[in-house]
Amino acid sequence: MSGSVSGLASPIVIAGAGQAGALLAIYLAREGHQVTVYESRPDLRRTDIDAGRSINLALATRGIVPLIDVGVIDAVDAITIPMRGRMIHSIGDPTPDLQPYGIKSHEVIHSVSRSDLNAILLDAAEATGLVSFNFGRRIKSVDFESSTLLFHDGATAEFGVIFGADGAGSRVRKAMAAEGACSFRTDWLDHDYKELTLPAATDSGHQLDPNALHIWPRGEFMLIALANPEGDFTVTLFAPRKTFDDLDSPRAVTSFFQAEFEELTAMVPDLAQQFEENPTGKLGTLWAEGWSFENRAVLVGDAAHAIVPFHGQGMNAALESVRVLIRHLQAEPKDVAAAFASYEQERKADADAIAAMALSNYVEMRSGVVDPDYLAKRALALELQQKHPEHLSPRYNMVMFSTMPYAEAQQRAADQAELIGRAIADPSVDIDALVSNLPPLPDLDPLADPHALSVG
Ligand SMILES: Cc1cc2nc3c(=O)[nH]c(=O)nc-3n(C[C@H](O)[C@H](O)[C@H](O)COP(=O)(O)OP(=O)(O)OC[C@H]3O[C@@H](n4cnc5c(N)ncnc54)[C@H](O)[C@@H]3O)c2cc1C
Repeated sequence: MSGSVSGLASPIVIAGAGQAGALLAIYLAREGHQVTVYESRPDLRRTDIDAGRSINLALATRGIVPLIDVGVIDAVDAITIPMRGRMIHSIGDPTPDLQPYGIKSHEVIHSVSRSDLNAILLDAAEATGLVSFNFGRRIKSVDFESSTLLFHDGATAEFGVIFGADGAGSRVRKAMAAEGACSFRTDWLDHDYKELTLPAATDSGHQLDPNALHIWPRGEFMLIALANPEGDFTVTLFAPRKTFDDLDSPRAVTSFFQAEFEELTAMVPDLAQQFEENPTGKLGTLWAEGWSFENRAVLVGDAAHAIVPFHGQGMNAALESVRVLIRHLQAEPKDVAAAFASYEQERKADADAIAAMALSNYVEMRSGVVDPDYLAKRALALELQQKHPEHLSPRYNMVMFSTMPYAEAQQRAADQAELIGRAIADPSVDIDALVSNLPPLPDLDPLADPHALSVG
C-alpha cells in the first residue's frame, strides 16, 4: 500500500501490543510517525507468558497479506506449518479421513504460534526505530477531557490520538462508550474451551500428521489439534459448560477422554493433570457500533469485533482491519475523523458477517463434517468449483483464501447454498446452468501467484 497518513495528533498512542497493535505500530512507523505502545503484559520475548505451553492459531490469506505488506512474511514463513485440510477422527474409526480445503495447491492454512508471530511483529516494529513499547503498563481508564491515560499503578501518560488495540475487554472502547461514541454488547456462548498439549513423539517427531487440522467431531462438542514445529500439538476441547462442570475429577476426565477420544489418552500421558491445571476459557461475540471518537480514538482488532474462533478468523480479521484502517487514513490524510468513520462504514458489515459465519461454523465443525447431507453438499460444491471456477467457490474458501469482503462472501455463500440445496433435492435441476448464471467471482486471491508461504 502506498500513500501517506498525516493529521494524527501527537503523542500517537496504541493500547495493546497483540497482533493488531504491533502490526499497526509497524504501519504507522513506516509512515514516519513516532508511536508509543502501552501493553499490560510483560514482553513476551523475554517472559514465558503462556506458562510453558505453545498456543497456536490458523493463519490464512487475510492475515498473510498485511504481513507481506510490512515485510515480515519470510520470518513468519520460517515458523508456520501448512495444513491442507481437515483430518476427521470419527468415533470408532481407527483411520482418519482427510477433507482437503481446496482444489488449488496454495489453498492451505498455516499453523503458527501466537507468541512467536507476535514476537516477529514486535521486533519489526522496534526495528523501525520509531516505536517505543512500554510493557507491564495496564491502562485503567482513558480521560478524553484531559487527553490522559491512567494506569493501574497510578501513573499517567498523555495522548493526542489513541488506537484501541487492547482486545475484547478494551478499556479504550469503554471510555468511548462513556463519551456516548460507542455502544456494545457481548453475546457469551454457553460453550467453553480448554487448551492442552499433545507432546512430541520420543523421536521428537509429531504423533499425528502435522499437515492437517485435526478434528474429533462429537456432535455437541469437539476437540481440535494444530501442530507446532517442535513436534507437539496444541489441542483444544470446545464443549458445553455443563460438560466442563462434570469433568471435575481426574477420574471423570480420564473416562471422558477414553470414551470420546481414546487414541489421545495414550498420546497425552498427563492428560488429567493438564486438564486440572490449564484454565478454561470463555467464548463470545462482541457486537460494537461506533468504532471511533472524533479524531481522538479508534478501535481495531478484537477491541472492535471479537468473534468466536470456529472459522479461525479472529486474528486474520484483526490484521485485515488494521490494513483497512491504514488505507482509510491514507485516503483522508487531512481529516482523521472522517477516515476513522469511513473505516467503520466499510468494515462493520464485514465484521458482522464473519461473526455470524464463525458462529455457524461451530455447528459445521462439531457435527456437520460427519453428516452425510453436509458431505454431499460439500462434494458437489467442490465439483462445481472445479467446473466453474469463475463463478463458484465454497464459503470456507472465500473466507480463508481470498480478500473478498466478508459480507460479500456471506451473501455469495447463501446464494450458492440455495442452488446446491435445490440440486441435491431435485437431480433434474440443471445446476451447471444455474451456477454459470452466478455473478463472476472477483479476482481476489492475492496469494495464488506467487505463493507467499511455503505450502508443504
Ligand atoms: C481458543 C481460541 C482460538 C483462536 N484461534 C484462532 C485462529 O485459529 N485463527 C485466528 O485468526 N484467530 C483465532 N483466534 C482469535 C485471535 O486470538 C484474536 O482474534 C486475536 O488475537 C486478536 O488480536 P488483537 O491484537 O486484536 O487482540 P489481542 O490479541 O487480545 O491483543 C490485545 C492486547 O492488548 C493488551 N491489553 C488488554 N487490555 C489492556 C489494557 N487495559 N492496557 C494495556 N494493554 C492491554 C493485551 O494484553 C493484549 O496483548 C482464537 C481465539 C481463541 C480464544
